[in-house]
Amino acid sequence: MSEAATGVGLDVTFFHRWMTELKSAVESGCDELTRLDAAIGDADHGINMLRGMQAVEAALQDAQPFTDPGAVLDLAGARLITVVGGAAGPLYGTAFREMGAALDPVPDVTNLAQAVMAGLDGIRRLGAAEPGDKTMVDAWMPAAIALGEAGDVDLGSAVELAEAAARAGMLATVPLRARKGRASYLGWRSEGHRDPGASSTYMIFTALSAAVRG
Ligand code: ADP
Ligand code: MG
Repeated sequence: MSEAATGVGLDVTFFHRWMTELKSAVESGCDELTRLDAAIGDADHGINMLRGMQAVEAALQDAQPFTDPGAVLDLAGARLITVVGGAAGPLYGTAFREMGAALDPVPDVTNLAQAVMAGLDGIRRLGAAEPGDKTMVDAWMPAAIALGEAGDVDLGSAVELAEAAARAGMLATVPLRARKGRASYLGWRSEGHRDPGASSTYMIFTALSAAVRG
């Protein structure tokens, strides 16, 4: 159904395009991520993500052709874990590897949703963040739930719902007090600032939508 409705199949090319779109989003959004992390962290989130996604893109170019979609995300995750310092590299790296492991050889929308939920589980297992702790979980979790609840809609509509949910979750981090990661050292002074990791997670879901649009 998804392929018929959007003209896009969830194949190896699609998952590579997702990563390429994410690299572009991080390139355009690097300064914003730096500014957000300067306010409540150490101002390295933009450069961490940029370095990571440039390494992912280079590794994907070298390794292709891939035989199955899961291998694309597995390699992306492995590169993020190796290349990116700070909290976000291992967390996103684990998320991407878990998504890769959960993807079927020929995924459909339901399986994509399962993979995104598996990514969330990986982030939470490693980082132990609860919803409301002002982390990437606050954007990733609503996106994963929205994708899972999208049900029988086409791929394009499902990823738009996930993108909107990630955006709402990202914006909802502004008033929160950070309880995990570097920003938690600030206590109440972390309130009133948007979380950098929730903001890069929103980019992950805007990139997913962009990949579906082709
Ligand atoms: P660092 O804080 O080590 O400098 P980054 O700046 O790259 O790492 O990433 C910071 C982001 O990582 C935060 O904005 C937050 O969203 C996320 N983060 C930090 N700790 C955790 C955690 N335990 N669980 C989930 N996300 C976390
Ligand atoms: Mg930082």
